[in-house]
Amino acid sequence: MSTIIYDSPIFGPIHSRRLGISLGINLLPEGGKFCSFDCIYCECGLNKERRTKNPLPSADEVVDGLKEKLQALGQEGIVPDVLTFAGNGEPTLHPHFPEIVDRVREVRDALCPSAKMSILSNATQIRRPEIREALLHFDNNILKLDTVSPIYIYNVDRPQGHYDVEEQIECLALFRGHCIIQTMLMRGEYEGHSVDNTGEEYVAPYLEALARIKPKAVMLYTLDRETPVSGLLKAEPAAMQAIAERIRALGIEVSVSC
Ligand code: SF4
Repeated sequence: MSTIIYDSPIFGPIHSRRLGISLGINLLPEGGKFCSFDCIYCECGLNKERRTKNPLPSADEVVDGLKEKLQALGQEGIVPDVLTFAGNGEPTLHPHFPEIVDRVREVRDALCPSAKMSILSNATQIRRPEIREALLHFDNNILKLDTVSPIYIYNVDRPQGHYDVEEQIECLALFRGHCIIQTMLMRGEYEGHSVDNTGEEYVAPYLEALARIKPKAVMLYTLDRETPVSGLLKAEPAAMQAIAERIRALGIEVSVSC
């Protein structure tokens, strides 16, 4: 199985369909994974297979690495469209996350003011006010919510600590629209359980949650690469489009990556 582990702390740039030229910022350790979820579809692999003793990068390493990379790209005439916090796990777990966000904004303003700032987060830390405050500084605050079924989340996203779906919905609503919900849709089976979250029993309560959260937009996506476990299947494009239509009917913008 091939998995993707990013260099730390700066990787890319990557040409992304959704984001344009994206320079990645990985606040997780080099050569391993560190996440508060252990999703069975994770492109980085399962947590237990990707453990590392490498440390988290310091704030100085992130900021200095970013400056150096932006200066090198500038000499080639490349200006990133977006600086994206992502990589080998969950960026908000970094103990200096708010400070790093502030310092990256300063570098962005000085060296590539047109670049947007994006983050891909699993949202497990958003009950912490300081994390919500830091996330408000992102142009694209992209937060994972695959379903609102606790059993499904337990089987598929596999939180590694406290996770309460109702609390998550309440905290997501606190962003007052300054968030984009990212949802993985798929079919198949894992360890004898269906992992199909495109059926009505999942979609109806998910739509109710979106109506409460009122995000700026929703991104629906499905499996794109090999997964660390077998038995998972891409969601049907027609099912994804049907869910997207129902999200649009709530007045929420939605994109679909089949
Ligand atoms: S939240 Fe993201 S990084 Fe963490 S296990 Fe899930 S897919 Fe992987």
